[in-house]
Amino acid sequence: MITIKEVFEGNRRHIECATDALYAPHLKGQSPTLCVVYCSDSRENIHIISDIEPKMGEIFAIENAGNVVDGSVSAIGAVMYCLTHLKTKELLILGHTGCGAVTAVFSDYKSDRQMIVDHIKVLENVKQITLHVISQMEARDIPIDEIVKSDKYLSLASEINVDYQCEFMKQILKREGIDGVNVVGAIHDLHSIYGAINGALYLTCGDSGNDSDIKKKLVDYGSGRTVRDVMAELDISFNSLE
Ligand SMILES: [Zn+2]
Repeated sequence: MITIKEVFEGNRRHIECATDALYAPHLKGQSPTLCVVYCSDSRENIHIISDIEPKMGEIFAIENAGNVVDGSVSAIGAVMYCLTHLKTKELLILGHTGCGAVTAVFSDYKSDRQMIVDHIKVLENVKQITLHVISQMEARDIPIDEIVKSDKYLSLASEINVDYQCEFMKQILKREGIDGVNVVGAIHDLHSIYGAINGALYLTCGDSGNDSDIKKKLVDYGSGRTVRDVMAELDISFNSLE
């Protein structure tokens, strides 16, 4: 297991081989090409799951429990700094299956320590939308996939959370008059819930620019519909419950 001691020991090795070529290009500032909001969960690592070698100056990362933007002063401030001052044009909101923060909002979390409660409650909107979607699907006899039922709708909630945070950011960008940012949502299937593939990344909303496997649908609600398609049919928007 990684300890602070190991971090400092590792830095001693790092400074022995750190060259001007590594540091010099980055001393005047940063121009990251990707802004990513993802979960603090220690199993989530953008470099590992995307098979991208860590490099200085490329990814502006915001991590918090539940990959939230709405309700987090810290997250929204950091994202807006990246998109407006650093002019980054790609924003990825990345959720994952089995998210503890999403699970927590459906539990008796209000008996937890106040600082934790204050964070989890920013997911209340997501919880209410998820419950509303489920109840409307049941009322209209729209079949709910066994995959969704089997994990007590928590993966569905994680999907909706990602889409909700993306929609929130789109509305903020529109309100602030910021154009040209590609906002994309995805789920990292940590638990292989959507298929027997370890760690697959699934697009939930937006355009990844990739027309291969990454566009696989999370759960097909018939005719290739995603939960967003079903929500549109049911006239449920992320604004309607505010
Ligand atoms: Zn998580």
